[in-house]
Amino acid sequence: MSDQVVTRFAPSPTGYLHIGGARTALFNWLYARGRGGKFLLRIEDTDRARSTPAATAAILQGMAWLGLDHDGEVISQFERAPRHAEVALDLLAQGKAYKCFSTQDEIAAFREAAKAEGKSTLFHSPWRDADAGTHPDAPFVIRIKAPLDGKTVIRDEVQGDVTIGNDQLDDMVLLRSDGTPVYMLAVVVDDHDMGVTHVIRGDDHLNNAARQMMIYDAMGWPVPVWAHIPLIHGADGKKLSKRHGALGAQEYQVMGYPAAGMRNYLSRLGWSHGDDEFFTDAQALEWFDLSGIGKSPARFDTKKLENLSGQHIAASDDAALQRELIAFLEAAGLPALTDVQNATLVKAMPFLKERAKTFPELLEKAQFALTSRPVQVDEKAAKALDTENRALLAQLTPHLQNDSWDRDSLEAKLNDFAEQNDTKFGKLAGPLRAALAGRAVTPSVFDMMLVLGPDETLARITDVAI
Ligand code: GLU
Repeated sequence: MSDQVVTRFAPSPTGYLHIGGARTALFNWLYARGRGGKFLLRIEDTDRARSTPAATAAILQGMAWLGLDHDGEVISQFERAPRHAEVALDLLAQGKAYKCFSTQDEIAAFREAAKAEGKSTLFHSPWRDADAGTHPDAPFVIRIKAPLDGKTVIRDEVQGDVTIGNDQLDDMVLLRSDGTPVYMLAVVVDDHDMGVTHVIRGDDHLNNAARQMMIYDAMGWPVPVWAHIPLIHGADGKKLSKRHGALGAQEYQVMGYPAAGMRNYLSRLGWSHGDDEFFTDAQALEWFDLSGIGKSPARFDTKKLENLSGQHIAASDDAALQRELIAFLEAAGLPALTDVQNATLVKAMPFLKERAKTFPELLEKAQFALTSRPVQVDEKAAKALDTENRALLAQLTPHLQNDSWDRDSLEAKLNDFAEQNDTKFGKLAGPLRAALAGRAVTPSVFDMMLVLGPDETLARITDVAI
């Protein structure tokens, strides 16, 4: 057997990719990719009433946004039902499972009686050891023979050893009377057949692990490494819910968080590497391990997400950021950039990306570059364009002609001009901001002039000068 790591993400397609699911997918992706392993995707679509193709598409989109690429085909659990049934029949043939003809009424009566006697209400089927000759010609389910005594130990990489008395385990149904496999069987057979070595999932599945181990043991299959991760809570310490705001991973794309920032943030939700908060994908891949996963629920903290997001925007390569910004506009249903806007943004990116926590913030700073003449001047900025200042701008324009257009010369020129006019550069900044951006709060005047270039800068100043 190869010792290659194989992980999987196994979402149920009943809605969008939520934050918890995205974090589970990320952990599995990091664990596998960081070890040269495989990361597989299985859609657990056995609940036909609740599973929709739209939800599967949304999950795939969410993963694509987060860059969580999976190996091989997407596996549909539903389509593997015949294989699941085959395993149930195999266990039946091996005598490790049996046909149970008990009706719902009989089971209910058993439970009532057990309750009245103060005994465990776990159903004990009278058919467990029945002779096949006594089998009626009636509908039946196939049940596994649960161990009657002893205990089951889930050796969990996060929770430690979790011991469950086998008297807690019932002869669970593997195959329903209509021949359809139960979910618990499907998960085990799929994980086995897919060669999954590590199951990293929410700790709401911890109890399932004990039941799933019965099937592994009965089939003589190796049990995967378990890592049940604590759920995510809201800032108030309560289980994350709609009340806490956005739950869908892609809602964060629409809010303008870069995927790298989101990955960084999600990886810190329940996992840590010393005091490191900001890190690159390469570092996360190198550092991620199961021992760094904490036992208590992580708290979702929007401030922290914003902070990491800003750091990732600042650290991003300009061209990559431009591409992601374009994808953001599309995801958010905002108008696409024109060629001119794109070209101007490329020039502005080096300083725009400093201090923008999200793409909307970056676009807000980029407003001067995205707008075109005549520049709309807002009320606040208009105050800087009184007659005196407009005349000042008129005097300034000749000084900006035919000269080198670099930061040092522009600074020198504007300072000289201010001095000649018995004023300070600060006095010029307001009217220039208003002329170039139509706003009172803008990026630095020099940054704007450099991005706009001499022609556009002069044209915008001339538009408001008198
Ligand atoms: N389909 C399950 C869920 O979405 C995951 C099962 C598993 O990871 O074993 O919660």
